[in-house]
Amino acid sequence: MGVPTLGCTCAVCTSADPHDRRLRPSALVRWNGPEDGGPERVVVIDTGPDFREQALRAGLMRVDAVLYTHAHADHILGMDDLRPLSFAAFRESGPIPLYASPETAEVLRHVYDYTFSPQATYSHRARVQLEPLGDRTRVHGVEFLRVPVLHGEMEIAGFRFGNAAYLTDVSAIPEQSFGLLEGLEHLVLSALRHKPHPSHATVEQALGWARRIGARHTWLTHIAHELGHEETNRTLPDGVRLAYDGQSVAVTL
Ligand SMILES: [Zn+2]
Ligand SMILES: [Zn+2]
Repeated sequence: MGVPTLGCTCAVCTSADPHDRRLRPSALVRWNGPEDGGPERVVVIDTGPDFREQALRAGLMRVDAVLYTHAHADHILGMDDLRPLSFAAFRESGPIPLYASPETAEVLRHVYDYTFSPQATYSHRARVQLEPLGDRTRVHGVEFLRVPVLHGEMEIAGFRFGNAAYLTDVSAIPEQSFGLLEGLEHLVLSALRHKPHPSHATVEQALGWARRIGARHTWLTHIAHELGHEETNRTLPDGVRLAYDGQSVAVTL
């Protein structure tokens, strides 16, 4: 829902700590910046309703591909804001590929009918193209592994890239997926709050998985207003911390 949460005046929603202001979850994987001498490559994981604001904050100048975890509003409703970047991408190499499961693609086609319908006549629609999300997706030489996780009754996608993984909206991790999560330096893992929720992990559940996966750093994301940044961090074990908006970590791809 984002923090502050609409209509709420709790301590976290009214906190003066900038770490307690949370836009909807999303991740940006960026490599080969000008400092490495190559063309910059950018993969975005989910384009939620805050995508435009996040892209501005991150100084996003291009997008090479988008990977979708699932089709809930907080993960897809910023897709249309890809438009200006997609016009540039289209001139360079073609539409921006949006990798999505069949279920996610169906919702995207429905919500963005004016973009995807073969009858679409809107000339300024995003230059994007739905592509099936397989077990492995390669973007300019970097491989993104799909890591199946459960979000309530629904199987959704997490992603592993190099020595990092991004798992959001998790309520359970299937046994086979643990094998895809070995040797991680950074694990981003969702933890909504302390109180149980049917389709999101509690902090305690997330800590159990974090211990088993054993990444050097685990960053909790998709955090509701029940969890204040500073006070929650004081209770977390070494190696586990709440993530915050705009946070960036170096990963090896
Ligand atoms: Zn609140
Ligand atoms: Zn979500």
